[in-house]
Amino acid sequence: MTLTMQPHRETVGLKPGLLYIEGEWGAARDGATWTHRHPATGEEIGELAVATAADGDAAVAAARRAFDSGEWSNARATTRIGVLRRYATLLREHAEELRALQALDNSVPVGFGAGVYAVSVEVAADVFDHHAGWIDKVGGQTLDPYQGGDHLAMTFREPIGVVAAILPWNAPFLLYAQKVAPALAAGCTVVLKPSEYCTFSVLRMVELLEEAGLPKGTLNVVTGPGDPTGERLITHPDVDKISFTGSRAVGSRIVEASAGTMKRVSLELGGKSPAIVFDDAPDVGIAAATTVGAVTLGLSGQVCVANTRALVHRCVYDDFIAAAQGMAAAVSYGDPFDPAVMSAPLINAKQLDRVLGYIEKGKAEGARLVTGGERLDGEYAGGNFVAPTIFADVDNSSTIAQEEIFGPVLAVVPFDDEEEAVRLANDTDYGLGASVFTANGQRAFRVARKVRAGTVGVNGFQVEPHLPFGGFKQSGLGREGGQSSFEAYTELKTVLMPLGDEMM
Ligand code: NAD
Repeated sequence: MTLTMQPHRETVGLKPGLLYIEGEWGAARDGATWTHRHPATGEEIGELAVATAADGDAAVAAARRAFDSGEWSNARATTRIGVLRRYATLLREHAEELRALQALDNSVPVGFGAGVYAVSVEVAADVFDHHAGWIDKVGGQTLDPYQGGDHLAMTFREPIGVVAAILPWNAPFLLYAQKVAPALAAGCTVVLKPSEYCTFSVLRMVELLEEAGLPKGTLNVVTGPGDPTGERLITHPDVDKISFTGSRAVGSRIVEASAGTMKRVSLELGGKSPAIVFDDAPDVGIAAATTVGAVTLGLSGQVCVANTRALVHRCVYDDFIAAAQGMAAAVSYGDPFDPAVMSAPLINAKQLDRVLGYIEKGKAEGARLVTGGERLDGEYAGGNFVAPTIFADVDNSSTIAQEEIFGPVLAVVPFDDEEEAVRLANDTDYGLGASVFTANGQRAFRVARKVRAGTVGVNGFQVEPHLPFGGFKQSGLGREGGQSSFEAYTELKTVLMPLGDEMM
């Protein structure tokens, strides 16, 4: 039977993707659209507007007017807290609908979306609740005079202004929330650009924000690809901050484009995160299943923080490979609306070619292909499915161990001792995440502190709303989550005032 999304498309009732500027939904000025093709079938799923530079200008102007009016940034704390908390409730109430839209967008299976917290609608709701909590808690300091004398010195946290929030396609609920919640909580206004490969679920979340009572113009949306839609935002003189999650290449472009106007920039980029499996790991089978699961389940390895390099002690190397192979064989593909399906195809044909190219490169560079390595055929031939792929005996300096593949490809590298494991873990341009599998608590902390990565999991890994998340080295700039994220949408102001008649 050939896989098709058409019946689901009708049940979900997909609407065309429109721009949202100053509370009005509408087409692009020149009527241009983008056709979204489903990753599992190649079928045309829906059309979305491609915002022109003039549409981008209108969205930024709306956000600027809303910011300057103070309607949101100066509203009572209880008003802002109320909107964000109501919104969190609405998201939870619409979780099933949002998961279905996501399945039409990026083919993340509804079962996976419901069961895995990091990509769930529930995590997005929790992020909004979490940031609602900061609204009446973050403030500045009062400081004693440094040189003696009689004056007051105070610091204040003020909203940065207009934020351009640019999203990737892979985890729309979490990544939307990690930007929009702290930006709104801090009192900023927003122009949001979802990925052209994942727009429909994001637009539905925006509709719910309107329902929660966010004033018009506070959040605006432009849809379409990086060029022209994204480019206008990152070069716009009236955008104060860019908050971006996506590839390193676009991240570099953003740093370059923002330099002229000194925009504040937060970047969440890619990774080549290691799973370090020691010979005293509590359970090598679980370590292998967790690692392979992160690289194959759900998003099929299209996850920034997936442990795509397994560094495995030689004493448990064979056991790890055997368990990893078993896990790879258990991964299920197919219709994302089938609750038994647990993994997805690659997002588009370009990414499919890229991943298959890396697999060929791995073979050519002498790594041992243990399983996978090919595109799925038969009923899956119309989609971008690649079989879970494991390479063993990988040289850590080879291409597949150094570059972000963003597909279901695990590179397994053997090591002999702790020092070598740490050296290999750090031998990468990236530094987003890492996992350490060991039953030795002292080793766990020792290694966690030595690995240069933003988040290190010991015998497991979690993304949680109150924890800072982000990268060392070329994995990004800044952190999302928790207080640091809220503060990243504020400027720190110092106010000085003499208490006597004399000037300071
Ligand atoms: P991408 O960089 O191709 O696109 C991301 C977004 O940027 C999209 O909305 C795209 O339209 C837009 N864009 C592209 N060119 C632009 C330009 N010139 N100006 C402005 N906007 C532009 O990334 P992707 O394929 O959507 O996502 C995959 C990448 O995202 C991977 O590298 C992955 O590691 C990374 N990612 C990182 C995190 C994290 O938290 N660190 C999370 C998820 C994904």
